[in-house]
Amino acid sequence: MTSVGSAKKLVIIGSGIIGLCSAYHLLGQGWEITVVSSDPADDTTACGSAGAIANAQIFPVSEPGLFLKVPRWLGDPLGPLSIRPGHMPKLMGWLVKFLAAGTQARVEASTQALTSLLAPARDHHFELIKEIKAQDLLRQNGSLMLYHSERSRDKDAYQWAMRRQFGIEFSAVNRQQILEHEPALGPGAHCGYFIPDWCHYIDPQKLLAMLADYLRNAGVTFVGDRVDGFEFADSRPVAALGGQENNYDFHTCLVAAGAYSARLSEQLGDGFPLESERGYNTMLPNTGLDITTYLAFEEHFVLTPMAQGVRIGGAAEFAGLDAPPNYARSKALLKLARRYLPDLNDDGGTQWMGHRPSTPDSLPVISRSTGFSNIYYGFGHGHIGLTLGPTTGRLISQLISGKDPQISLSPFGIDRYT
Ligand SMILES: Cc1cc2nc3c(=O)[nH]c(=O)nc-3n(C[C@H](O)[C@H](O)[C@H](O)COP(=O)(O)OP(=O)(O)OC[C@H]3O[C@@H](n4cnc5c(N)ncnc54)[C@H](O)[C@@H]3O)c2cc1C
Repeated sequence: MTSVGSAKKLVIIGSGIIGLCSAYHLLGQGWEITVVSSDPADDTTACGSAGAIANAQIFPVSEPGLFLKVPRWLGDPLGPLSIRPGHMPKLMGWLVKFLAAGTQARVEASTQALTSLLAPARDHHFELIKEIKAQDLLRQNGSLMLYHSERSRDKDAYQWAMRRQFGIEFSAVNRQQILEHEPALGPGAHCGYFIPDWCHYIDPQKLLAMLADYLRNAGVTFVGDRVDGFEFADSRPVAALGGQENNYDFHTCLVAAGAYSARLSEQLGDGFPLESERGYNTMLPNTGLDITTYLAFEEHFVLTPMAQGVRIGGAAEFAGLDAPPNYARSKALLKLARRYLPDLNDDGGTQWMGHRPSTPDSLPVISRSTGFSNIYYGFGHGHIGLTLGPTTGRLISQLISGKDPQISLSPFGIDRYT
């Protein structure tokens, strides 16, 4: 499909937030950029996400003592975690690494590494949306983290203390203060914390569409195709092989295929333990409630006020990449939401499932390949890929351009599990 011989041909596999932000930061550096993607940009994972710039999500998912909670969660139909039994044999290796990442020392190291990425993330979003003229999509209304009781809030005391230590601003709120922010919240919202710097997008799908349009106008080519493998010449990858029998020749290639990335990295000699951690949500067009703040709840789900209504989502399901969605997970989240919003009207709701690309230690892969100097990886952003898109894009562009990355990338190597 593309012509052979250009020394500056860059193929990006994946049109999600990571692929697009990488393309954005590589503009104007002499690259001829082609984004090859099986889904269009406005149908990728961030589009159905909760839309948060989650700068306070500095903790990895695995934590000390988590293995004690897992059996209870798995037994609870409204619990935050489910595993399809048929997927268990495939999941085991990942799960062992995941639990091993939950020691105190490793959690502290991962928190440090995540903080280094998250600290500039908000500013990077501000710069991006200013350039692509998408400021109207962002709300800076803060976030309320809500608990049913002081007892349940105090179980998270360590995490909040760590947040303070890492410079995240927040204040404790009682029932009265919660109502001052959001009068619609019922008595289930007893106490919590308010994070003033938290921002969210009211239409992440439009954000992705606008970014893709911006890139198109700047000369980036978008191709709808699935990459199945690579062509090698002189033992070096030189083209991505498309499912439509097209070859996409490259000088340099970035694999940013979300939860599917490890299927491609394996073929380049870089196996990596990556899992799809499925998340579910429901978009409610007419809740009958006036809510403007991003709400997070102790049961591990969230509510985002968006342009088209209110999106309620979260949960983690391990069922692999190919199994059909189980929308009972979305329904369970609505049931939980009624504990806080008893008058919630869910008529006309639209359900959605997406694949979080999750690594055992919750750290993304932002890395050059171990075997090939012309292959780069940007994947594994788990729960915070939308947040980190512009930051990772910037780091990838620095890597590809041979500049010193602004942030140390040693925790994010593709080889950390080999
Ligand atoms: C329910 C839910 C809520 C979330 N909420 C938030 C949030 O509030 N804030 C936040 O920061 N993050 C959130 N996330 C996480 C975030 O959405 C993801 O981390 C992020 O979107 C991943 O982006 P990506 O570019 O790596 O992958 P994706 O968006 O999945 O994009 C992957 C791209 O690769 C393409 N692709 C895959 N395989 C191939 C192939 N073989 N050939 C060609 N193309 C291929 C796909 O078509 C797609 O274009 C949420 C996720 C879920 C599921």
